Amino acid sequence: MGIFGLRPNMKIMDKLPSPKEARQFSTLPEVTASRPLRYFAYSLIGGRENTQFEVLNRLKELGFCVNEHQCLANNVDEMLGFYNRIYNDRYSLGYDIDGVVLKVNNLTLQSRLGNTNKAPKWAIAHKFPAAQGKTKIEKILVQVGRTGQLTPIAQLVPINIGGVVVTRANLYNQDEIERKDIREGDLVVVARAGDVIPKIIDVDKSARSRNAPKFVFPDTCPECDSDLDDWERCTGENVCPAQQIGKLKYFVSNDAFDITGFGDKQLEFFYNLGLVKQIPDIFTLEEKLKNFNLSEQEGWGEKSISNLLDSINSRKTITLEKFISSLGIRFVGPHIAKLLAKHYGSYENWYSADEEELMSIIGVGEKIIDSLISFFSEKDNVEMVKNLASQLKIESVSTNTSSSPFSGKIMVFTGTLSMERKEAQAKVESLGIKVSSSVSKNTAFLVVGEKPGSKLEKAKKLGIKILTEEKFVAFLQKSI
Ligand SMILES: [Zn+2]
Repeated sequence: MGIFGLRPNMKIMDKLPSPKEARQFSTLPEVTASRPLRYFAYSLIGGRENTQFEVLNRLKELGFCVNEHQCLANNVDEMLGFYNRIYNDRYSLGYDIDGVVLKVNNLTLQSRLGNTNKAPKWAIAHKFPAAQGKTKIEKILVQVGRTGQLTPIAQLVPINIGGVVVTRANLYNQDEIERKDIREGDLVVVARAGDVIPKIIDVDKSARSRNAPKFVFPDTCPECDSDLDDWERCTGENVCPAQQIGKLKYFVSNDAFDITGFGDKQLEFFYNLGLVKQIPDIFTLEEKLKNFNLSEQEGWGEKSISNLLDSINSRKTITLEKFISSLGIRFVGPHIAKLLAKHYGSYENWYSADEEELMSIIGVGEKIIDSLISFFSEKDNVEMVKNLASQLKIESVSTNTSSSPFSGKIMVFTGTLSMERKEAQAKVESLGIKVSSSVSKNTAFLVVGEKPGSKLEKAKKLGIKILTEEKFVAFLQKSI
């Protein structure tokens, strides 16, 4: 048995403000109030209802806006019937949707099914087929992202697909262009599905003129002429303006330092003037502006300058997690940054991390470690991080397990344990104990498995408490 709800498509379309602009406006309640924002309520936390259907009725009673397009279905045919009805009526709804959601009605079963990392297992989206349209490729542009990745983009003759004007489509990479044999001037079928950038699903080769040349993918970076690596990435990390600007834009974005008043336009403006070339320059901007009459430049008034500088200064204190994720190191996004910050606790500890210790952190794989090593093997990056850190107050991570008597104590492992090393580490870390890879006078415990290494001798010399695996397991049982 399932219950349906619509799946509103939350994608922000061209005509709406950018997320950054939206955020700036959203600080003004009267502006927010003037926007036609509405939502449908779907779940109730802490209610006494037994089914999803009852939840929706209860929400309605409470005065929430509940979507009227719902149906309690008893079999697959009824589910498909609802899907088809909504699919046929989708343009008369007054808002954009990309499918319906099927949910298990019984809430007890919902909680038994649980969630994966990304999504509940008791609900599934039944998406509509992608909306399509035929148009012409005006030009193929190759963009360079903040990691140096070259991405070909088709600039299209604008076309309205499912109510949205599409002007560009993602061509992904050179292989994709060759596989589909996409050329400038081609007539193509473009599909817009869910929240992804429109893509080209077919090329009408019969409409192509005979002498239309094949698209030649650049063999060097179109922005800085550096060589490309095997993955079509520009190798000029610290000389490529596109990568530099990309990194700066990411650094000030909502996902990173979240500096308001620093939109793409402002960043490019300061970059072109040479005032902000690298991330640390953001925090010396105030000093530099003393010798530079910014208010003479178009678009800058006293107020906007002081707002921007206030916003920068308000970010001079930052959490370790945000600091790490904002550096834009490949594969080190917010999730990994959180793991690293939790493990190392302070900037100093993190900065002096070694490979062995990184390998001991659950969730930090080889790809991430290689990326960190390659980042820190570049002298320019090391200088940049040091310079940036010297201008900020980076807050250490406080462990919320301070009530544990072992909180802050350091434990070291040596030899092979019968339980997974990472599992053992996760358990002790839950007690607020820090795991280190080497023995020092600050070590509180050494856990010794089979075939221990030189750490055992060292610990004995320093008089550190030694736990056999048996004792260690007993210790865990007692403490957790
Ligand atoms: Zn480049």
